[in-house]
Amino acid sequence: MKRGKFIAGNWKMNKGTAESLAFLGDLAALLEEVKGFDSLVLDPVDLVLFPQAVNLQPMGEYLKKCKIDLKLGIQNIYWPLSGAFTGENSISSASEAGASFALVGHSERRHLFTEDDDLVAKKFCSCLENGLEPVLCVGETETQRNDGLTEKVIEDQVKAVFDHLKTGFGERERVFIAYEPVWAIGTGLNATARDAQDCCRFIRTLLSEFGDPDLAARSIVAYGGSVKSSNSKGYLDQDDVDGLLVGGASLDPREFYGIILSALQRVKDSRVQSQ
Ligand code: PEP
Repeated sequence: MKRGKFIAGNWKMNKGTAESLAFLGDLAALLEEVKGFDSLVLDPVDLVLFPQAVNLQPMGEYLKKCKIDLKLGIQNIYWPLSGAFTGENSISSASEAGASFALVGHSERRHLFTEDDDLVAKKFCSCLENGLEPVLCVGETETQRNDGLTEKVIEDQVKAVFDHLKTGFGERERVFIAYEPVWAIGTGLNATARDAQDCCRFIRTLLSEFGDPDLAARSIVAYGGSVKSSNSKGYLDQDDVDGLLVGGASLDPREFYGIILSALQRVKDSRVQSQ
C-alpha cells in the first residue's frame, strides 16, 4: 500500500458555523484551480479539517453539496461509548455528525487539560475499535528537548498506545501519527525540516518495532508546528514526512490552499523522479 500525502487543519476553538461554511466555499473555489495543475487531481493527497464539534454536521452537509474531497475529524472524544460524562463527545456521535478522524493526544489536551499517556491510549484504542481513525499527536516540550529527551518522550508516547492495543493491525490498516514538538505549536518557531525528518523516521522505526515493518511502511507520519505555505514544501520534501498538521495557517483558505499546493507539487516531483 503506497503512502499518499496527508494535509490536515486543526481549527481548535475557532470559527463559528457561518465562518466555517464560508471557508469551505472559498476553498472549493481555490481547489477548482487545481484541476489545471498539470493534469494532477487531488487523489494522492488526503485533506482533513478538524473544526469545533458543533460545526461537523453543517460542514458535512455543505461538503456533500460542493463536492470537495475533504474529510472531517473531531478534535476530541472520550473513550467510553456513552454515559454520564458531561461535556464530552462520543465516538458514535462524532461519526454520525460526519467525522472520520479524531485527534488524540494533541499537546493542548495533554498540557492544558492534563491528559496523560494512559488516557490518550484509551482514546486511541477506542477510536480504532469503533470506526474513527485516530491521529496520535506526540512531541516533546522545550525543556525536554533541551535535556536531550526528545526520542524518549516520543517513544514513551507511542509505546503507551501500543501497550493498550488488544489486537494487531489488519493488512490494510495504518496508523496516523503527527510529530508536533510542543515548543513549535502556535509559537512561530519551527523545527527544521531535518529535525522533522529525523523525528518522523524515528517514529517509523518505533512502528516497525512495536508493530511490524509493513505497518511502518504504510503508516502516515506527519509534522506539525507553525507550518505555513512558505515553509510547507521543505517538510514535505523529506522522505519520512508524509504530511502536515496545521493549526493557525489552516484558518485562512489561501494559506491552507498554498499548503495543499505544496503537497501536490511534492507528489508531482516524486512522479517525475520515478519515471
Ligand atoms: C496544531 O495545533 O496542531 C498546530 C500545529 O498549530 P500551529 O500550526 O498553529 O503551530
